[in-house]
Amino acid sequence: MTEPAAATCAEPSNHRRVVIAGAGYGGTTLAVNLARKMRPSDDIEILLIEPNPCQQALSELDLVAVGPSRPEFCELWLPSVFRDMSVTVCYNRLEDVHAEERVVIVGQPGEEGQRVEYWRLVLATGAVAFVPPVPGLEEHAVTMWSVEDAQELQRRIEAAFKRAAKLSDASARRRMLSFTVIGGGATGVEIVGTLGQMLPKRARDAGLDPADINVRLVEGRPEILYDLPQRQRARAVDRLRSMGVELVLGSMVDRVERGQIVLASGDRVDAEVLVFCGGAKADPDAIKWGLDFDNSGRLICDEHLCSPHHPEIYAIGDVAAFRDPATNKTLPMLAQFAIREGEHTADNLLREARGEATEPFHPHMHGEFVSVGPRWGVGWMFNMNVSGIPAIIMKRLTYVMYWRSVGGIRLAWKRLREMLAMAR
Ligand SMILES: Cc1cc2nc3c(=O)[nH]c(=O)nc-3n(C[C@H](O)[C@H](O)[C@H](O)COP(=O)(O)OP(=O)(O)OC[C@H]3O[C@@H](n4cnc5c(N)ncnc54)[C@H](O)[C@@H]3O)c2cc1C
Repeated sequence: MTEPAAATCAEPSNHRRVVIAGAGYGGTTLAVNLARKMRPSDDIEILLIEPNPCQQALSELDLVAVGPSRPEFCELWLPSVFRDMSVTVCYNRLEDVHAEERVVIVGQPGEEGQRVEYWRLVLATGAVAFVPPVPGLEEHAVTMWSVEDAQELQRRIEAAFKRAAKLSDASARRRMLSFTVIGGGATGVEIVGTLGQMLPKRARDAGLDPADINVRLVEGRPEILYDLPQRQRARAVDRLRSMGVELVLGSMVDRVERGQIVLASGDRVDAEVLVFCGGAKADPDAIKWGLDFDNSGRLICDEHLCSPHHPEIYAIGDVAAFRDPATNKTLPMLAQFAIREGEHTADNLLREARGEATEPFHPHMHGEFVSVGPRWGVGWMFNMNVSGIPAIIMKRLTYVMYWRSVGGIRLAWKRLREMLAMAR
C-alpha cells in the first residue's frame, strides 16, 4: 500500500466545517456516521485529522504480539475506509486549539503549522500508556498501547528464544525464558493469557522444552480483574493457573533490574521479557489546548459531550471525561464508549446543522468481556455471567460489528476469518 500524501488542509471553507482530531474508534465512527447521514442541505464538510493512515485495533494487540507477526491484522487502512465518502483525511496531527478564534493548528511539533478554521471541533485523540516512576520500569518494560509495542514484544520473545537455545545450563535457560506481565487489569490478563497459551507451542517449534517457559502475572492488589464480578475473577484465575501462569498477587513492584523485578517485600521475580500493563492516561497534549480538564488530564465535557465553556467543541472517547449521571462516575476508557459517543455526536452535529436542539448522551454498558488466552474469555452481559467460548465469541463479535459499521460486510468477513486464523 502506498502511503497517502501528507495533506494540506488549511483552505478556507464556505461550509460548516467539522474538524475531527483522531481517527481511532471514536473519531472514525463519528466521521463514518456523519458522512453517511448528512444531506447536501446540512452544508457540512468533514475534515479528519489523523497522523497514522492505519487505525489500530488495540483490543487485538495480544494476538499480534504473541501470535504470528501480522501487524496488518489489527490495522484498518483509513484511505480505503473513506475512499467513497465525503470525508477529507489530513494525515497530520492537531498541534493546538485556539478556541476563541475557532481555529486549530495542524502540523508537527516545532513546525509553523497550518491554521484551520472550524464550525465544530471534535477532539478524539485517545490515550497513551501510563508508566509510573518506578526505577528501571520504563527502561526494561515494553508497554502495550500500539502495534509498535506489540511488534517490540514479538522481537523480545524471539530474542529470548534465540538466546535460550544457546544456553547449556538449565537454570540459566529457564531464567532466559521468563515472561512477566505487570498489571492484573483487562489488558494485563489478555496479554498474559495469550502468552500462557501460545508460548509453549512456539517454544516447541523453536526446539526448546515448553517446561522451561515461565509466565507470570504480577499485580499490586490481592485480586485481578477487579471490574468484573467476583465469580468471573475466580474463573479467570483458575483458567490462568490451568495454563501454568503463576500469579503473584498483592505485591507492589519496588524496582526493575535487567532480567528481574524486585517486589516491595524484597522478593525477586525473573522477568527476562517484561510487559507493563499498569494503566493509561489521556493524550498528554490535551491539557495544553486551553480547555477544562480533570485531575487525570481528561477533557471535561457536559451531558452533550461538549466542553463547558466552548459548546462548539466536543470531546469523545478516552481523552474525554464524561461523568455518567446514573453513577456519578467518569466513564472508563473503553472502545465501546468511544464508539457510542462517536455515534451520538454525529447525530448531535446533524441536529445542530438542522437548527434542532442537541440531546444528552446516556451511556449504557450492556456487557464487558476479557479474553484469557485467544480461545477463552470471561465477562458479563445483561447482568448474566458468561465465560469460556461464548465469552470470547462475544468479545470478538463486538469488533466484527465495529468493522462492519465502518467498513461494510466485506471488511467484517475478512477480519473474522483473520481473527479465527490468528487464534488457532
Ligand atoms: C491492549 C488493549 C486492549 C483493549 N481492549 C479493549 C476491549 O477489549 N474492549 C474495550 O472496550 N476497550 C479496550 N481497550 C480500550 C480501547 O482500545 C480504547 O478505549 C479506545 O481505543 C478509545 O478510542 P478513542 O477513539 O478514544 O482513541 P483511540 O482508538 O486510541 O484513537 C485515538 C487516535 O487519535 C490519534 N491522535 C493522537 N494524537 C493526535 C493528534 N494530536 N492529532 C490527531 N490525531 C491524534 C491517534 O493516532 C489515534 O488514532 C483496549 C486498549 C488496549 C491498549
